[in-house]
Amino acid sequence: MSEAGDAKEPTETLILPAEITDEMIEHCRAGRPNEACGILASQDGGMVKVFRMTNATLSPLRYSLDPKEQFAVYRAIEGRGWELGAVFHSHTHTEAYPSPTDVRLASEDVPYLIVSLADEPPSVRAFRILKANWTDQEGEIKEVSVSVLR
Ligand SMILES: [Zn+2]
Repeated sequence: MSEAGDAKEPTETLILPAEITDEMIEHCRAGRPNEACGILASQDGGMVKVFRMTNATLSPLRYSLDPKEQFAVYRAIEGRGWELGAVFHSHTHTEAYPSPTDVRLASEDVPYLIVSLADEPPSVRAFRILKANWTDQEGEIKEVSVSVLR
């Protein structure tokens, strides 16, 4: 199990336009007291759209994407020639670092963004979860630098 200090030094940078960042944070604030989640679509490596999604778990401690909603979002992304850019969710009271549950549930080879509402202004960090198989319960956490364009 990984702790905060274990993450490898970032070698990748995720560039986020200000309006994308702000919309993501707004969705996270609106979801309180529960964790909020969503997906960012990308085009040519740049983030172009926030898909605000439902936390199907309705929990302040964890999240899960609604499978039907996720399917619809993936279709919309594909239909526009975009790509899955990142998956994001909020932490309402803890730091922006993947929980063991976040690692266990990770199933996409994209950065996982975490917005911590414990900080004001909220902190935004990103991580890749590296697994030999996506069904693995554990994985390696690798931080991705986040650069917000303001
Ligand atoms: Zn989490």
